[in-house]
Amino acid sequence: MEIVRLKDIKKIYKSKNEEVEALKSISLTINEGEMVAVMGPSGSGKSTLLHIIGLIDTPTEGSIEIDNKDVSKLNLSKFRNEYIGFVFQLSYLLPEFTALENVMMPLLISKKEKPKEKAINILKKLGLEHRVNHKPSQLSGGEQQRVAIARAIVNNPKILVADEPTGNLDSENTKIVMEIFKNLNKEKNTTIIIATHDIEVAKNCDRIIYIKDGKILKEEKAFERV
Ligand code: ADP
Ligand code: ADP
Repeated sequence: MEIVRLKDIKKIYKSKNEEVEALKSISLTINEGEMVAVMGPSGSGKSTLLHIIGLIDTPTEGSIEIDNKDVSKLNLSKFRNEYIGFVFQLSYLLPEFTALENVMMPLLISKKEKPKEKAINILKKLGLEHRVNHKPSQLSGGEQQRVAIARAIVNNPKILVADEPTGNLDSENTKIVMEIFKNLNKEKNTTIIIATHDIEVAKNCDRIIYIKDGKILKEEKAFERV
């Protein structure tokens, strides 16, 4: 079943004296439970594409359906909270709050029951039980990113969007993060979309979409790889 359907997406950034056409005409479908990598040179439009799929930014033209719903007709912030988790290259944790409080935040916002238990459970799953009461500055880069992932998935999103999630991590922590994503994909059938420069990260995915100059250059399915 298709969970993401983009049709003729264009994105133009306008500023005082210039326009940048970041996405030119992107049509793309992603199936539920699929794990997709988006690769391409810096400036090719990966972040813009992920922001649009993640409902953080809106396209200039084109349509987006998520789970067969036309998102232009929805209350975006509510829908985003229920459907989508987003992980950035930098963890963007709230520095004044502990790991546990950071992870509880989305549950409090959406008024879920037992936020503390749920947040502790997910932190345990990601191997952070000994870090729940630490603040971000007391954590290593890899731990901070795992807390950010815990925060993104604690609400059980159907779709996890990750923009260069391993861009600041060493190879050991990159492996740990990819194991977390693969488990989530297998156990919960979460659809995962990852922008990355790292071919080793992309090789873990079912499909690689290569973009260049705001267009899809080619796609490659895992089973087609030699
Ligand atoms: P990538 O993630 O592949 O590096 P981006 O989506 O960040 O690519 O950027 C695509 C193009 O759009 C680049 O030319 C970039 O400079 C431009 N761009 C991205 N965000 C903005 C913005 N907020 N305002 C103006 N231009 C932007
Ligand atoms: P990455 O290549 O890691 O995706 P970028 O450096 O392209 O990151 O972009 C980082 C942030 O800066 C993004 O939020 C993007 O929208 C914004 N950005 C990128 N290019 C521009 C630009 N030319 N003008 C304004 N904002 C930009």
